[in-house]
Amino acid sequence: MSIRLISAVLTESNTLRPDYDFIVCGGGSSGSGVARRLAENPDVQVLLIEAGGSDESETVLDPAQWPLNVGSDRDWGFQAEPNPHLDGRTLSMSMGKGLGGGSSVNVMVWARGHRSDWEYFADQAGDPAWGYDSVLDIYRHIEMTQFIRDSAVTYWHQSCTAKMGRDDMSVVDASRKVYGIEGLRIADASIMPRVATGNTQAPCAIIGERAAHLIRREYGI
Ligand SMILES: Cc1cc2nc3c(=O)[nH]c(=O)nc-3n(C[C@H](O)[C@H](O)[C@H](O)COP(=O)(O)OP(=O)(O)OC[C@H]3O[C@@H](n4cnc5c(N)ncnc54)[C@H](O)[C@@H]3O)c2cc1C
Repeated sequence: MSIRLISAVLTESNTLRPDYDFIVCGGGSSGSGVARRLAENPDVQVLLIEAGGSDESETVLDPAQWPLNVGSDRDWGFQAEPNPHLDGRTLSMSMGKGLGGGSSVNVMVWARGHRSDWEYFADQAGDPAWGYDSVLDIYRHIEMTQFIRDSAVTYWHQSCTAKMGRDDMSVVDASRKVYGIEGLRIADASIMPRVATGNTQAPCAIIGERAAHLIRREYGI
């Protein structure tokens, strides 16, 4: 597998190539999958750039310690604006910073998202390949460990800031190309046309897998 990784602590600039076939920005739930799948082809050179550091931390490797990551240097530490409807309180908007992104700091709940979510995604994209029956095989491929089945519950997270669709509010099309910008694609939670009903990490893994599939098909790799 031909994949080069740069992160805040794993800088390997002395071994960097002058060029790459693909540069993936962000090693989170979706981006890691994109880079991994593209790099399965030994003829393809992939650079994965991650702003944060290593995931070799006890609080990442021991899932029970996930709350210790919130507010740490593995959290971007975003804060919402003070909300007048919440007595001026400022809510924390945690987001993973480091290899694995959110999947390194999160609660490890694996929830597919409801069939209606994926049907809605497909409808917004105008492409049945985003529908539930289409992504079900990818889910089944990922869900080979009993652990995931045993631990699955439901939860809720923000997403959708670069909505996939065809209306005026849409940022990317069904192939995740950003409207009006050549050569730029997005593959993460932001492209969901609405937040998945269950939780977001599993759908993000699918978004990464589909993104890699589309890139491979487009470039014949
Ligand atoms: C505390 C917490 C608990 C959660 N619990 C669950 C859960 O139990 N189950 C669930 O399904 N979901 C959960 N989530 C949500 C889930 O983890 C996210 O929705 C999912 O990881 C988002 O995936 P993504 O690919 O969109 O982005 P991310 O996984 O956030 O990855 C983005 C990556 O890009 C990197 N990056 C950003 N900017 C740059 C840049 N300029 N250059 C290079 N790299 C950059 C970031 O550091 C990050 O590693 C949780 C989230 C948090 C924060």
